[in-house]
Amino acid sequence: MELRKDPITRSWVITGDDAAENTPRAEAFCRFCPETPAAPQVVSNMPGIDGGAWSARAVVHPTPLYHIEGEASRRADGLYDRMSRVGAHEVLIESPRHDHHLWSASDAEIEQFLLLAARRIQDLKRDQRFKYVSIFKNHGISAGQEFEHATSQLTATTFVPRRVLYELRAGRDYFAQKERCVFCDIIAQEMRQNLRVLEVRGDFLALCPYAPRVPYETWIMSTTHEAAFERFALGRPSNLRDLGALLRRTLQRIRTIAEEFHLVLHTSPNSQHRSESLGYWKTIDEDYHWHIEILPIISDKARSYTFKEVYYSPVASETAVARLKQVRVEP
Ligand SMILES: [Zn+2]
Ligand SMILES: [Zn+2]
Ligand SMILES: [Zn+2]
Repeated sequence: MELRKDPITRSWVITGDDAAENTPRAEAFCRFCPETPAAPQVVSNMPGIDGGAWSARAVVHPTPLYHIEGEASRRADGLYDRMSRVGAHEVLIESPRHDHHLWSASDAEIEQFLLLAARRIQDLKRDQRFKYVSIFKNHGISAGQEFEHATSQLTATTFVPRRVLYELRAGRDYFAQKERCVFCDIIAQEMRQNLRVLEVRGDFLALCPYAPRVPYETWIMSTTHEAAFERFALGRPSNLRDLGALLRRTLQRIRTIAEEFHLVLHTSPNSQHRSESLGYWKTIDEDYHWHIEILPIISDKARSYTFKEVYYSPVASETAVARLKQVRVEP
């Protein structure tokens, strides 16, 4: 398996013939519960909150897509580019409790998980080989969920993932024209129109985007501008309780429509990266804005998710917001 770059869209893909390497064995126990007989390699622990040894923890993924040792050694193949799978691949255990999910855990637990995510991003961005750190959660069989335990995953990569690259280019272009952050402008207009805002809590809002890729797609954003999630979270940790509560309430609402979903945290790329094209990102702190995207998987509408050339989303965001708002959620 290796990384290859599509020269037209400039996006990297992992490809190659790989039979068994990434197929985890079925196990009779959960390797992420505290009393597991096969503890994974622990990277970082957050202190326990109700007498437990830890509240959230990062461990090395048992079958990692990326390997921490070595250099990316990017090389040409005629007009093509390829590199080896250097990076980090971690499992972020959201709670020591097997079934304390982001929609069922306490706000204090979710806060610790968000803090762990921020610390791992900050730590991995110190590694100059890595251009980007992604945090994502795939919940449900159709989403590609790997483990039963309440977990998210993290990857640090020597390239910027495609969707983020599109956002970065768009943010940079919008800023070049208007000298404003496109995300801040979206927030201002959505607050003014109040057609697609799901909930405002503290310094955060949840909204269904104007042009959703799937029905009930929801974004969670901070109303104050900040490009990097980790800088925001570690600079103002008292804010994370509100973010955790909004995330929990939003997932509670969405799960009344669809149990399965993808969740991804988008933060700015690594500005420590020793890249000659760094000038490309010189307005990054002003033109990008961290956010969380939640993409529910609605089974009979799954077609809309797999046909990605043009997204087809048969529920308008205005309708989606109205329905989600009616859901009774815990305060
Ligand atoms: Zn478990
Ligand atoms: Zn902004
Ligand atoms: Zn995004």
